[in-house]
Amino acid sequence: MQNIQINSDGICSEAKFIASPNIDARPNAEDISLIVIHNISLPPKQYGGNGVIDLFSNQLNPDEHPYYAEIAPLKVSSHFFIRRDGELIQFASCNDRAWHAGASNWQGRERCNDFSIGIELEGSDFEAFEPMQYETLESLITSIKTRYPIEAITGHSDISPGRKTDPGPYFNWSRIKT
Ligand SMILES: [Zn+2]
Repeated sequence: MQNIQINSDGICSEAKFIASPNIDARPNAEDISLIVIHNISLPPKQYGGNGVIDLFSNQLNPDEHPYYAEIAPLKVSSHFFIRRDGELIQFASCNDRAWHAGASNWQGRERCNDFSIGIELEGSDFEAFEPMQYETLESLITSIKTRYPIEAITGHSDISPGRKTDPGPYFNWSRIKT
C-alpha cells in the first residue's frame, strides 16, 4: 500500500478503521515523537484470522485457544496493524494514546505510550516479514513523519528490554532507516 496520508484528526483514510476502546488522551497532545515497531499474531504464528482485531476490541474468546485464555483480560491496542498482504488497519487516532508499549523507557523517558505511535506487523520472532508489509510500513512512516515531529523509530524490545522481544530478529531495520 502506497501514498498513505494522515489527516489532522490523526486518521489514515487508506486504512480500515476499527475503533479500539483501549485508548485515552495523551498527557501532552503536542508530543508525538516516537514510532514503536511491534510484531503480533494470534494465535501465535498463525496469520489472517481475527485474533488481533478481537484482542484490541476486547472481544477475544478465551475458549478459542489456550493462549487466548491468558491474554483475553488484557486491555491493549495499537494505532496500526499491518497484515501479511500489506493491508493496513487502524485502531486509534494518532492524536490519541494507544496502549501498546506497557512499561517502557526511551532514553530515560518512561511510559512511551504517552508520546509514541505503535505499529504492529502481523508476524512473529521466528520468520521474515513480507515485502508488502514493508511497502505499507514505509509509506505509513513517511505519512506519520509528514504530520508529526518524529525523532526516532524503535522496537518494542528496545524500550522494554527483558520483557519484550518484538519485532524480533527477522525485522529488517535497513528497510526503514532514512
Ligand atoms: Zn510489542
